[in-house]
Amino acid sequence: MIELIERATDFAGRTAIKSEGQSYTYDKLLEESKNVALTLLNGQKDLNGARIAFLVPASFEYAKIQWGIWRAGGIAVPLCEKHPLPSIEYVLNDTKASTLIFSEEFRPLLAPLFNTSEINFIPLSEITFQEGQLPDVQTHRSALILYTSGTTGAPKGVVTTHDNIEAQITTLVDSWKWNKDDHVLNVLPLHHVHGIINMLSCALWSGACCEFLPKFNPEEVYDVFNKGEVNVFMAVPTIYFKLIAHFKKLTPSEQESISNNLKKFRLMVSGSAALPISVLEQWKEISGHILLERYGMTEMGMAISNPYEGIRKPGHIGQPLPGVEIRLGDANHKPVQNNEPGEILIKGPNVFKEYWNKPKATQEAFTPEGWFKSGDIAVLDGDSIKILGRNSVDIIKSGGYKISALEIEEVLRKHPKIKDCGVVGIPDLEWGEIIGAAIVTETDNFDTEELKSWLHKKLPGYKTPRKYMVMSDLPRNVMGKVTKNNIKELFTTNQ
Ligand code: ATP
Ligand code: MG
Repeated sequence: MIELIERATDFAGRTAIKSEGQSYTYDKLLEESKNVALTLLNGQKDLNGARIAFLVPASFEYAKIQWGIWRAGGIAVPLCEKHPLPSIEYVLNDTKASTLIFSEEFRPLLAPLFNTSEINFIPLSEITFQEGQLPDVQTHRSALILYTSGTTGAPKGVVTTHDNIEAQITTLVDSWKWNKDDHVLNVLPLHHVHGIINMLSCALWSGACCEFLPKFNPEEVYDVFNKGEVNVFMAVPTIYFKLIAHFKKLTPSEQESISNNLKKFRLMVSGSAALPISVLEQWKEISGHILLERYGMTEMGMAISNPYEGIRKPGHIGQPLPGVEIRLGDANHKPVQNNEPGEILIKGPNVFKEYWNKPKATQEAFTPEGWFKSGDIAVLDGDSIKILGRNSVDIIKSGGYKISALEIEEVLRKHPKIKDCGVVGIPDLEWGEIIGAAIVTETDNFDTEELKSWLHKKLPGYKTPRKYMVMSDLPRNVMGKVTKNNIKELFTTNQ
């Protein structure tokens, strides 16, 4: 019995989803997801873990398909709308998907696959009213394959069970006090844990309303905010960055009305990448809210969060969520001594089952004691955890020092002419790595010599970047995360 779906009968006539100008009740979601399930079953008793991929915009259709696959005993494989065909093919081949459900706007993109692959392609229009029995799906079964963002390498398929998903949802519902009167606006793509778990599933678990904007556009977001219905918002730092930039262009009276509405919100969250303190501070000016920053991964949903009530420390990710066990581990995965930096290790019912089709990678991802190794380095600072970055790209090993790229980025962002930056280690024979800073500047003729002497007063020599590269924008993936390997490559090839 999938609790998330069972609960929906309690909320029957309430609005579950608003998308494309329409409202859909929980009853409608139950009815339409049953039609999806029966269409997929097509006379079979149970899909028995068949992988069903789907490519539809973030909307009611997304939710009904995901629930339909689950109700038929299948594993849901949401595809990313922004991905080009080769990335979609990669996921289809990797999961050996038997079926792909798509909405009409994606027909041209998918057309080249129609005759070449053995996949059963089902357009949304072919899902119609059906009668029949649904299987009783046991919750230890696999439910979802989500691909990691591909920030550090090829995306990995992460398999979670219904039990994992329930644990990921319930810890957030309790900690962030989700309730049925909540109304969240989702502007993120729905092939990622942030949108699927933190927003859509937490809202549906609680009897709340999840509203979708198919694409992020600051003007439209503010229009929706101004209607006064939304009270919960969650996004990645880049989205807040863009909302701030747009806000600055508005007239004082427009700004006042937005700010007045934002002040009435119950909760505003940031995550998926480190939240720059400058963004946190500017958003506080605009909205009156200190963004609640949390930390998580595709492999485990959310694990660490700043408190709902209580002090949210800028630059910190907070405390372990209830039910999630966290250890900061040394090289041998033993607890670090004296508040030294260590790798974030995680245990709990929220932690994924396996990487799809990658038994070796799965085995290597866990310590012999069963801790999942996040690859992220953090330090306990007082009563709150501070993230120093990914061991692979953000911890720069230079001349015997281990330097956090994120700390240097925080300093660089304080320079009045720097809009954004990404700091990396560049391979170097003498030092191991030297520090390189890619910067996005306010002006065209930026003086890096002036920057160096400005930094001289702010950072010790060994933490000061040696190489600089001015860019019009930082390279990012579809989740808005800076892809540092690309910056590294640019530095190496430009040497
Ligand atoms: P890949 O695993 O394919 O390289 P990815 O790690 O970016 O991609 P996700 O699972 O989407 O894929 O992201 C998880 C990572 O995001 C974490 O391991 C961490 O590095 C980063 N992250 C999440 N929240 C935060 C945060 N609040 N501050 C800093 N980093 C964060
Ligand atoms: Mg990762």
